[in-house]
Amino acid sequence: DILRATPESESELAFEGALRPQSLDEFVGQQKVRRQLQLLLEAATLQNRAPDHILLAGPPGLGKTTLAMIVAHEGQRPLRMTSGPAIQHAGDLAAVLSSLVPGEVLFIDEIHRMARSAEEMLYLAMEDYRVDIMVGKGAGATSIPLELAPFTLVGATTRSGLLPNPLRDRFGFTAHLEFYEPAELHLVLERAAVLIRLDIDTDALREISGRSRGTPRIANRLLRRVRDFALVHGGRADTTAVRAALDLYDVDEQGLDRLDRAVLQAIVERFDGGPVGLSTLAVSVGEEAETIEAVVEPFLVRTGLIARTPRGRVATAEAWRHLGRQPRSAPAD
Ligand code: ATP
Repeated sequence: DILRATPESESELAFEGALRPQSLDEFVGQQKVRRQLQLLLEAATLQNRAPDHILLAGPPGLGKTTLAMIVAHEGQRPLRMTSGPAIQHAGDLAAVLSSLVPGEVLFIDEIHRMARSAEEMLYLAMEDYRVDIMVGKGAGATSIPLELAPFTLVGATTRSGLLPNPLRDRFGFTAHLEFYEPAELHLVLERAAVLIRLDIDTDALREISGRSRGTPRIANRLLRRVRDFALVHGGRADTTAVRAALDLYDVDEQGLDRLDRAVLQAIVERFDGGPVGLSTLAVSVGEEAETIEAVVEPFLVRTGLIARTPRGRVATAEAWRHLGRQPRSAPAD
């Protein structure tokens, strides 16, 4: 799906790598988070210590990995990257932690998916730069403390609510990444167009920015599809090309993709506007509940198309109109 906010292929990963800003100054948008990070990093540099642990929370594709790289790069620190699903046992984590060099930045993507036993080991590691390694089993088991090099953990999660409190509390700072404004995505795209040497109209960039679901990864991906379109059809990368390309990939004027629309349609048509529970909704569109909650819902809530209530999700009057229908007499908003 063109709009799913995860990298689709090796070539996209390479493309993303080439477009990644290397410093906080180059990083577009998220002004508050940038200033917060800047302060934290500068203070650490002045005191000649590893920066505090940082948690980055927000939907996919908003720049969490990029920020982790920047934290390392700005402080000229080495970076180790891993992910929650790769840490199935406490031993996996112990192996990573014990091989860190002083000042290293450890990035754990999808940190909410790490094994429980590893989570507990991480508490001590974050607080005291120490882990207790269990040796033996049963009555003869002993724990051997192991000193670690001071490091900075950068955790990324799409679901900060899923992290146990003791873990969340051990981060010195949690950055909540927000969807980007179209004007910010415009800057992201301008920069990307220069880097991929695409001659594209300002109006065309504006059109893409407005349809990118507030997400830089999606903006960059749509830009590639527009480039393809202009290339294949031998025309300019102008608004006509943008509209044709985005229509082809089922991206509507507000940037909603097929899954977004399927969710809206389900709430409106099958559940008469809601409220409907998350798992029922997920089953009715044939998707994982986690994807609906982490990817689809934040954007639909932010655009005012759905609202979350204690009894479930409801479609707003705007959603009915978006689907070309009259809102029911007592609309949910
Ligand atoms: P995921 O959680 O799915 O890994 P992510 O939030 O880590 O996503 P990144 O991989 O950091 O997202 O960013 C995706 C792409 O968007 C990259 O190509 C990156 O260059 C670009 N990008 C993200 N944020 C910005 C930004 N603020 N300015 C410019 N480009 C950005």
